Amino acid sequence: MSYKTSLPRDAKSTILTFRYAEIPMNNFSKPFSRRKFLAGTSSMGALYAASKFAPLPALAAGLQTDSRIAQQPIASKGFAAIRKIGNGVYATIADRSGGLQARCNGGFLIGRDAAILVEGFQTTIAAQFQLDTLRSVTALPIRAALNTHWHFDHTLGNSVYGGAGIPIWAHADVPARITAIYPKWQAQSLETYLVPWEKRVREAKTDQQREHFMSDVKGLSGMFNPVSQAVLALPNHLLDPAKMPMEIDLGGLTLVIEHYIGHTDTDLIFRVPEQKIAYMGDLLTGGQYPVNINGYATKWRETLAKFAAFDKDTLFIPGHGQIVGQEGVAAMRSCFDDLAEQAEKSYQAGIPVEEAVERYVIPDKFKNYLVFSWGFAIERTIEQFYEEWSGKPGQILNYS
Ligand SMILES: [Zn+2]
Repeated sequence: MSYKTSLPRDAKSTILTFRYAEIPMNNFSKPFSRRKFLAGTSSMGALYAASKFAPLPALAAGLQTDSRIAQQPIASKGFAAIRKIGNGVYATIADRSGGLQARCNGGFLIGRDAAILVEGFQTTIAAQFQLDTLRSVTALPIRAALNTHWHFDHTLGNSVYGGAGIPIWAHADVPARITAIYPKWQAQSLETYLVPWEKRVREAKTDQQREHFMSDVKGLSGMFNPVSQAVLALPNHLLDPAKMPMEIDLGGLTLVIEHYIGHTDTDLIFRVPEQKIAYMGDLLTGGQYPVNINGYATKWRETLAKFAAFDKDTLFIPGHGQIVGQEGVAAMRSCFDDLAEQAEKSYQAGIPVEEAVERYVIPDKFKNYLVFSWGFAIERTIEQFYEEWSGKPGQILNYS
């Protein structure tokens, strides 16, 4: 089956060097019905409205009585709250309804001898909040600040840690990923950056597709803006994935660093096995479709299957969303399953990938999920499935 794809799919593609193939008009074999169009747009409208403003409880409903978790945070700002979730283990849970200063979740761990921070967040404001809160609990030396992966919303606050003399640890490829992209954005205007994406909007063939393409413009702008305002601080202590799992002893508290591929090729998770607690980065997110800007859907699903085999009482701190138990892993797997099932039906029916992307319908059970953008939460994932089924699996992006 031949098809064209509208998002990057070769090894050297990035959203920076992005060149989408023009989608031929005749690739849509069947026009969208008016009913389908209305159903599509109204569900999108509800989706965006619902996802934006509701305050986020830090814990999933099933964890309200978990004895490991303090019900009251030790520190709280509108954009995030920090609470104890174990013995020397703390979680910082972001709440988008209070602002995007944190945007991702993080936390810190305190042993007898040393402490360690997790995540650099989207801004220095959140990193400073987390560092100040840690300092309100202990004066122990801080061994490191860990980044789960290279993305802006997990690293842009790193300069706070660098300025405090705290080494920043990450997967060995993180500095290269950051420097391949973000300095270029900082040398560019948003307007220039968006030119190809705006063109796509103008040339959309249906109102629904236009709305989807507009969601990409919005999502990409939401990345570009914080990056353009930040002072980039790269990790300066690089972790070799070949040497993982890697144990860090903080004194009576052991942290294990593991590497998996899925959301990016630099994903790390941080586990406290003795307490069955794990910081997951964006390999696990809640209340949103998997954001697949730099990911590998099939490997990601394999990784999630491994998480499902973690202890049944594991507390997961996802990269975004509430603290969850295994039900959070199950929900994300189910979301991927739905994407794969709907895409496979289209594939079997010989429907071109562009149309399969437009035919995807968000099921009721995920209708309140945040969609970062249609292109990066739905389109790219379906394109990757199509590539694999047609024997042309996409390469891992290396930004060479
Ligand atoms: Zn990410």
